[in-house]
Amino acid sequence: MKAVHTELHRSHDPQFFLVRGVVKRTTEQPERADRLLKGLRDGKHQLVEPTRFGQGPRARIHSPEYLSFLSEAWEAWTALGDSGPEMIGNIHPVRHAATYPTHIVGKLGWHTADTAAPIGPGTWAAACAATDVAVTAAQMVMDGEDAVYALCRPPGHHAYRDMAGGFCFLNNSAIAAAHLRQKHERVVILDVDVHHGNGTQGIFYARPDVYTISIHADPTAYYPFVWGYAHERGEGPGLGTNLNIPLAIGTGDDGYIQALDVARKAIESFAPGALVIALGLDASEHDPLKGLAVTTPGFRRIGQAIAKLGLPTVFVQEGGYLSDILGANLTSVLAGFEAAR
Ligand code: ZN
Repeated sequence: MKAVHTELHRSHDPQFFLVRGVVKRTTEQPERADRLLKGLRDGKHQLVEPTRFGQGPRARIHSPEYLSFLSEAWEAWTALGDSGPEMIGNIHPVRHAATYPTHIVGKLGWHTADTAAPIGPGTWAAACAATDVAVTAAQMVMDGEDAVYALCRPPGHHAYRDMAGGFCFLNNSAIAAAHLRQKHERVVILDVDVHHGNGTQGIFYARPDVYTISIHADPTAYYPFVWGYAHERGEGPGLGTNLNIPLAIGTGDDGYIQALDVARKAIESFAPGALVIALGLDASEHDPLKGLAVTTPGFRRIGQAIAKLGLPTVFVQEGGYLSDILGANLTSVLAGFEAAR
């Protein structure tokens, strides 16, 4: 399987992470990509540089105001003169009868769901490069590759149409799915990150053409807490094309594979033309954000189960944080997929 990668992610190096009132260094660090890259090299995957697709694919998913905000944010922030080293909102208006603000601090609050998406000088460039990585992989699959992996950083699945959050700014998986929609009438996004893909769910909640499925740690006890429940099934024309499969904290390989079988049945009845895997590796038993307990052989089984769906597949990297086994888990899931194809 070919893998798309660029070093341009490095310009995004966030530091701030607020956990239960304690400020820590974020777990979403550039070194993640180095470890994932080692996993790709160990798996003998051919590395491909991304093509630049420009704003078009991003504008299919994100609002003009949001894209303008992200592209101009750092300049406006530094022009304040007394601003900190990263952009963290101190107002979250939750939009009840609110007015779109003109001040950069107001915009920052409007466009962030939480404090876990600090914007620095290189954030916009890195986020744009990540969407190019995802769209390049989608285009390669549209052009005939069976499956392609996209090493996206920063990740994307917590980003809404016009809101950043949870380390995410631009929703790479959603952008890949929208790109695939040019060729396929129906596309599925299957999110196997340990966290619910709330941004992806929000983007497609009223759309019947992109079926969003997320398998994740129980939100009654785990981020994002307010989304990811089984009763969230879509709305309007999208009612019935959103499926959440929350798993008890600490669920291991067998429980995970059972959840994938539930997802398989839903996918088969939807009969999509292509599949996007929002590939979080943070369901690992060794991930620092401990939620589930998938082993390295378990990731191989996940790859096999995905392969058996028999669909053209774009793997988009989501979460998965620094552990000694991060690269091995990527090697394992892609090897499992290839072995079962
Ligand atoms: Zn995650």
